[in-house]
Amino acid sequence: MSGMKDIVIFIGPPGAGKGTLARLCCERMNWTQLSTGDLCRQHVVQKTELGQQIDLLIKSGKLISDSLVLEMVKKWLQEQLTWSEGIILDGFPRTQVQAEMLDLMLRETLQDSYTISVVKMELDPDIVVRRLMARVVCSNKTCQAVFSTKNIAKTKKNNDSDELVCAECSSPLVRRADDVEPVICERLSIYQSHASQLLDYYKASGRPIYSLDVAQPVEGVFEQFVHLKNGFNLR
Ligand code: AMP
Repeated sequence: MSGMKDIVIFIGPPGAGKGTLARLCCERMNWTQLSTGDLCRQHVVQKTELGQQIDLLIKSGKLISDSLVLEMVKKWLQEQLTWSEGIILDGFPRTQVQAEMLDLMLRETLQDSYTISVVKMELDPDIVVRRLMARVVCSNKTCQAVFSTKNIAKTKKNNDSDELVCAECSSPLVRRADDVEPVICERLSIYQSHASQLLDYYKASGRPIYSLDVAQPVEGVFEQFVHLKNGFNLR
């Protein structure tokens, strides 16, 4: 690894569009995305004992333990030999402990050659529930594209049935097990119980915090993000 690394942390409730924006940044700006939700779901797919425990937690909307998430992130960081333009942390850190440990890990790995910026994505809880109730994701674990049944033009129907298939890889689209109303509410309340502490931590450590208006289609959000990136101290 060489040069300065831009690390951008997306902080926002589930359904704010963190993953969708991160995906666009990877496709269009050659950034790298770390989604701890995806790392957790990979464990579930492997059906190990640990995967089964994680599955139960995800299905009930609870957080995975800080120590387990940090172990996954550490392994992921070690495997990233080259980080292109920047790295987006999507869904991590979610607690102050995770934020503190991330700082330690980055200092150990990169010494002073990195910047951290925080991008806050706030969204009305009613919109969160509506968005997540309409969310469908690609069942192909290497694709994982995300769509909305409200925007059906972006998905396509399988020729022989009403099944929705992914516009990118044609695999079936499915609902996430945790996108059901009681679990969405639990996830929202857990997010709300940690978010202000997390933002205070970054404020106190002098990291810039930017806000994005995410109550609009993703292209508009992406434009705002590019504007932020060009206008502030992100390279
Ligand atoms: P996401 O895909 O970010 O919505 O995450 C889905 C689920 O994975 C969460 O509801 C948690 O159960 C788990 N998870 C993802 N990231 C974290 C994290 N940083 N800390 C704890 N649990 C996490």
